[in-house]
Amino acid sequence: MNKGLLAELKEKLEKEKTAIKKQLATFADQDPELKGDWDTRFPKFDGNLEEAADEVEEYTSRLPVEFSLETRLRDINLALDKIKKDKYGRCENCGKEIDEKRLKVLPAARVCMKCQK
Ligand SMILES: [Zn+2]
Repeated sequence: MNKGLLAELKEKLEKEKTAIKKQLATFADQDPELKGDWDTRFPKFDGNLEEAADEVEEYTSRLPVEFSLETRLRDINLALDKIKKDKYGRCENCGKEIDEKRLKVLPAARVCMKCQK
């Protein structure tokens, strides 16, 4: 892969990382013990049951969002780590180079098109 494209993809990954972290921080706390793990803030109860039920519902609806953001963040960190180790752009499954077109759309892709299927 040429250096220009690599730099471009790295920048894309860094930007996406910042954006996801910002999004996560609006409703979740990063666990200081487990690096990179986020926990959706559980609602505080103040005795108002109706309000509490609403908040629990909101909390429950946020969990899948948190999970998907967290997965994306993890893949981005993995990709950035691979760039550092000069291993970026290879399929984790078959070891072949991932198509550049695919990486442009999904810079954090871990496997090639064939293995994705
Ligand atoms: Zn593959």
